[in-house]
Amino acid sequence: MSEKKRKHVSPDHKNYVNKTVRSTKDEDISKTNVDLHISPWYLTPVLADKYYQHTESENVYVAEVLDQKMTAQLVKTLSSQYPLTGLSHVKRVRARANGKKNAGLEIIICRAIDVNINHLDSSSTSIQTEKIMKTDVSHLNALSEFCKLFVVPKYPPLTRKQYEQSSQLWPVQFHEDKYIARVMNNQVFTTSELNFIEQNMSLALKLAMVSKCHVGAVVVDPATKTVVARAHDFRNKHTLQHAVMVAIDLVAQGQNGGAWNRYGLQIGPNLQEAESLNDSCIKRENHTTSQSLDECCGKDCRLTKTSPYLCTGYDLYVTREPCTMCAMALVHSRIRRVFYGVSTPWGALGSRYKIHVWEGLNHHFEVWKGVLEKQCQL
Ligand SMILES: [Zn+2]
Repeated sequence: MSEKKRKHVSPDHKNYVNKTVRSTKDEDISKTNVDLHISPWYLTPVLADKYYQHTESENVYVAEVLDQKMTAQLVKTLSSQYPLTGLSHVKRVRARANGKKNAGLEIIICRAIDVNINHLDSSSTSIQTEKIMKTDVSHLNALSEFCKLFVVPKYPPLTRKQYEQSSQLWPVQFHEDKYIARVMNNQVFTTSELNFIEQNMSLALKLAMVSKCHVGAVVVDPATKTVVARAHDFRNKHTLQHAVMVAIDLVAQGQNGGAWNRYGLQIGPNLQEAESLNDSCIKRENHTTSQSLDECCGKDCRLTKTSPYLCTGYDLYVTREPCTMCAMALVHSRIRRVFYGVSTPWGALGSRYKIHVWEGLNHHFEVWKGVLEKQCQL
C-alpha cells in the first residue's frame, strides 16, 4: 500500500495486568479466512462540531474616530460604559477598511443588543452617536456624528480557517491550538505509528470475522505496545455483549474485576490463555502471556498503572463505530483514544452523537475513524 495514500487525512487502582485477555481462542482466529488485502485507508479525526462551524456573527455599532489622539481615552471610556461581554476576542479598534493607507480608525461603540437595553431601535443601521454615548462633549467630538451597524464574529476562532473567515468581518484575537492544528493537518502520527494502528485494527478485523455479529475490538496499551484485551461481539447471545462491552469487561477481569464471567455469563468459548497468535499481526515487543508482572518490560507495570480507572492510558480499536451504550462505557472506563473502521448511522462517536466531546461529561477522549474502512464493512 502506498504510505502516502494511507496517511492522508481528510478536512476529540487496581492491579495492572500484563497479559492479553481474550474472548476467543487463538486457533479460531488463525483459522479464520480473513482477506487482509489492505486497501488504502484514510485516518480522519472526529472532532467537536465547533472546529468545523462557520463563523457566526453579531451586530455592533461602530463610529469613526475623528480625533485619533483620543483613541486610547475612547477605548478606556467605552470599555467601562459598554464592555464587549462575550466578545473579548474582537478588537475594539480597527483601521478603516477602505483600502487606503492612513484612512483613519473605526471603533466599536457597543453591541447592538446593548442599545436595545436602552430602549433604542437596535435594528437601525445608523444611529446618532450622542444617543448611545453617555459621556462628555470631548468624547463626542472625537467621534463621527453617526455610528453604523457592523457585524463581528460572535465566537473566538478555534482554527486557522475560522480565523481567516472571522478576519473578513472584523479583526480578532487568535490563539491557535497547536495540537488541534496538527490533528487537522494530519501531522499527528508517524509512519510507524500508522503501521501500529493498522496492525491493531487487523487483529480487530480478524476477531470480527470470528464473530457472528461481525464486530471485533482490541484494547491496547500504547505505552508498551501491548494488547491488553481482545474481544468480539456476542450480542446474538446477550443483548449487552457488544464487542466494546466485552473488551472492557475483559480489561476489568485482567484487573481482578469484571462481571460477566463471575456471574455465569461466559463471554467466550474459552477464556484460558492459549498459544501465541499464529498470525502475529500484533507487535508484542515486551509482554508475553507467560511473563510475570515483575519481568514485564524489566519493571513492575503495576507501578505504572496508577489510575483507578480501567482503561486509563489505553486505546481501543474497533471495527465498527460504537453505539451510545458502548461510548458511555468508554467514558466511564476513561479510555484514552478510540480508533474505528467504519461509521454506523446509530454511532455515538461521530455519526448520531459525539459523546467523546460532550462538554457536560467529565471525561473526553480522542476518536479517529477510517482505519481499514473498506475491510471493516463486514
Ligand atoms: Zn455497542
